[in-house]
Amino acid sequence: MKIAIIGGGPAGMMCAIKAAENHELTIFEKNEKLGKKLFITGKGRCNLTNYCDEREFLRNIVNNSTFMYSSIYSFSPFATYYYFEEFGLPLKVERGNRVFPASDKSSDVIKAYERKLKSLGVNIKLNSEIKFIEKVDDHFILNGREKFDKVVIATGGLSYKLTGSTGDGYKFAKDFGHKVISQVPGLIGINLKNNFSLAGLTLKNVELKVTKDKKIISNEFGEMLFTHRGISGPIVLTTSSKINRLKDFEMYLDLKPALDSEKLHNRILRDFGENQNKNIENVLKSLLPRDLILYVLEAANIDKDKKVNQITREERENLVETIKNFELKFDSLDDINRAIITSGGVDVSEIEPRTMESKKVPGLYFIGEVLDLDGLTGGFNIQIANSTGYSCGINL
Ligand SMILES: Cc1cc2nc3c(=O)[nH]c(=O)nc-3n(C[C@H](O)[C@H](O)[C@H](O)COP(=O)(O)OP(=O)(O)OC[C@H]3O[C@@H](n4cnc5c(N)ncnc54)[C@H](O)[C@@H]3O)c2cc1C
Repeated sequence: MKIAIIGGGPAGMMCAIKAAENHELTIFEKNEKLGKKLFITGKGRCNLTNYCDEREFLRNIVNNSTFMYSSIYSFSPFATYYYFEEFGLPLKVERGNRVFPASDKSSDVIKAYERKLKSLGVNIKLNSEIKFIEKVDDHFILNGREKFDKVVIATGGLSYKLTGSTGDGYKFAKDFGHKVISQVPGLIGINLKNNFSLAGLTLKNVELKVTKDKKIISNEFGEMLFTHRGISGPIVLTTSSKINRLKDFEMYLDLKPALDSEKLHNRILRDFGENQNKNIENVLKSLLPRDLILYVLEAANIDKDKKVNQITREERENLVETIKNFELKFDSLDDINRAIITSGGVDVSEIEPRTMESKKVPGLYFIGEVLDLDGLTGGFNIQIANSTGYSCGINL
């Protein structure tokens, strides 16, 4: 059978590798090389997967994790790890079970896919952008010329457009009558309405909380940083993926999550007791980053020029409340072009989860980021691409 795969990212390459033994495979890639996005992953090191079991993987999928059930059990993160080592790509496991090539070079991951594709005789057509797909009887015609029995769409999402992901797959899906969930950025910085001048300030061991109608939507502990327009860093990226389909929510920072309100109050009382005649701003330096103090005092309605012995009980209570719930006013998510992942895409309820075949158009398949699937940081997104590509490939 003649099969076309549109897109030479990890999803398309893995699918081609698994299907090539039984079929004549062609990958169409619009760039001059394969895996252009893979090259920039993991800051050029490619966090290929996460060394964890299937259940842990599924816990790290933000949207439609149940759809991944079949494909992750077909090609698990552990299986991926050993599969790539067999390709001749030595790997290593780092903090948080993140898997990287031992060489720290994403280019080695791309070379591993390429070696395998070559050994299997897959046709690779570079600089080949697919613009139209038509179905005529039982066949598909690409760009009005090339005829195939089956077509796999592996065109990726919408972010970092220079890598080739410009959302073409959504258009193909819509043309074939598929429902496409609107795309929003995931794993992205958050722009704030607060007028902070804190760009560059990093906060460690803080908790970023999001609530809606008094319910906790997200609660992430760890590191973040202020940018020119808002906030970014690990806990912000994770939070962004959990709130990117929501409207009207509140966001707070707990600046001292290790201390509950009572302990924090006692700590402040102690500090105040030892520094009665000092300025409040100076006394708080032992508790909070210097650059943040004025914003905290302002939010707590405390005059920054007050001496500690002038602070009222009510002001002290406000201070505790502000440190535990420092309000960040959400403005927007940063631009989707800068997102690590696109959230949204081809509605998975119209895709068969074991084979990735369209339930509407026999012979048409969707894999990887073009689907409405997205994971957190840690190697889970490339694993989505590999597992959906693998499942599709073996079932072709
Ligand atoms: C900066 C950054 C860092 C990241 N780091 C990590 C990480 O360390 N670990 C992780 O798990 N995930 C990471 N990701 C996410 C990961 O890169 C993607 O989830 C993954 O690449 C998706 O694979 P894919 O094959 O579905 O799509 P892509 O990798 O986007 O590949 C799609 C391919 O299709 C081609 N294409 C598109 N349209 C057409 C067309 N019409 N005709 C022909 N070809 C076409 C594109 O040129 C592209 O090469 C990162 C993403 C970014 C942006």
